Amino acid sequence: MSDMIPLSEPLFEGNEWAYIQSCLDSKWVSSAGAFVKQFEQVVAEYTGSPYAVAVQSGTAALHLSLLVAGVQAGDLVLIPNLSFVACANAVSYLGASPVLIDVDPETWQMDEQLVESFLTNACVLQDKQCWHRASGRRVKAIVPVHTLGYLAPVQVIQSLAQSFGLVMIEDAAEALGSWLGKRHAGTIGMIGCLSFNGNKIITTGGGGMILTSSEELAQQVRHLSTQAKSHPHRYDHDAVGYNYRLSNIHAALGVAQMETLPSILSRKAEIEMRYRGALGDSVSFPSILPDSLPNHWLPTFCSPKVEAIRDQLNQEGIQSRPLWTPMNQLPMYADCIYVHQEDYSGRIVSQSLSLPAFPALKEEQLIKILSTIHSAVKD
Ligand SMILES: *Cc1c(COP(=O)(O)O)cnc(C)c1O
Repeated sequence: MSDMIPLSEPLFEGNEWAYIQSCLDSKWVSSAGAFVKQFEQVVAEYTGSPYAVAVQSGTAALHLSLLVAGVQAGDLVLIPNLSFVACANAVSYLGASPVLIDVDPETWQMDEQLVESFLTNACVLQDKQCWHRASGRRVKAIVPVHTLGYLAPVQVIQSLAQSFGLVMIEDAAEALGSWLGKRHAGTIGMIGCLSFNGNKIITTGGGGMILTSSEELAQQVRHLSTQAKSHPHRYDHDAVGYNYRLSNIHAALGVAQMETLPSILSRKAEIEMRYRGALGDSVSFPSILPDSLPNHWLPTFCSPKVEAIRDQLNQEGIQSRPLWTPMNQLPMYADCIYVHQEDYSGRIVSQSLSLPAFPALKEEQLIKILSTIHSAVKD
């Protein structure tokens, strides 16, 4: 099995061991250690976000963000139909329901025209709040996802959100290192969420970060992530809180990973450009939003021959994977409103395949992957 090429693999070539060892040596392993603050500072600086609050996962980041945005039981929250399930789940934790928006067939991102037509035709603005006419439910927030680290059309979506009284929360879980002009993904709306799960662009083993320009929101999420403890010494609590704070050990890993981020990003860009250059004529990759620089997190293409390609890759010991099953096909979200014309999400996912693009991927492995796909496409 030594020849197996995995889909993803983290890179630990920097100070990961040293920083974790210093946690253990100092006995600061839990959420009060210095690395937590340092990790928040490094990420805030890198992304240009005025505030950054570390939590235990991207899912926890989404949950707290929706909570402080004022999402309540019975509300509706717009999310893309094609995405990882965590976003829909975070909406459900609050007793709210997702409204599923189909994606654009070229970019694979939430289709802003469908957002606009849903808000214009199916909703009404009353007392500065948006109401879904057919159900009488309030529409409180919209969560564009920067799917695969490519930018969603967040500027258009943000102005729609403003016109309709919605809060925009960016799910930038896959998008650390992705930029729209000079602004980092996750810093365009009021709140953005990052993930540091094992398969993401950098990893802390498990972790997430909430980015915001609002000091008040940053304080609120910090408070809620630490059991809403309201007194420095006594066990006083003033709200239903959560144990979502990141540990010092995880943050130590994060600080070290942030030091390697630039080299991870440049290697991944190189790999994706090779895939696009060599395969672009025979399969289709998502198009990239103008003026954006993606992080090339996970190169993924669509092809009618996807099954043959996957079989051949399997035979050669090369891991590949289809995209996530669309939300409208999952049992717990099958009854949600699905705003679509053509079901592009379903079509894209059924023909999709993600390819290995981890930074340690070797040249000969890349060549093997490319030639395997070429021969499968030719058959
Ligand atoms: C990974 C991911 C999440 C969840 O992050 P976790 O850290 O795994 O909880 C949320 N949204 C998207 C789009 C993701 O890819």
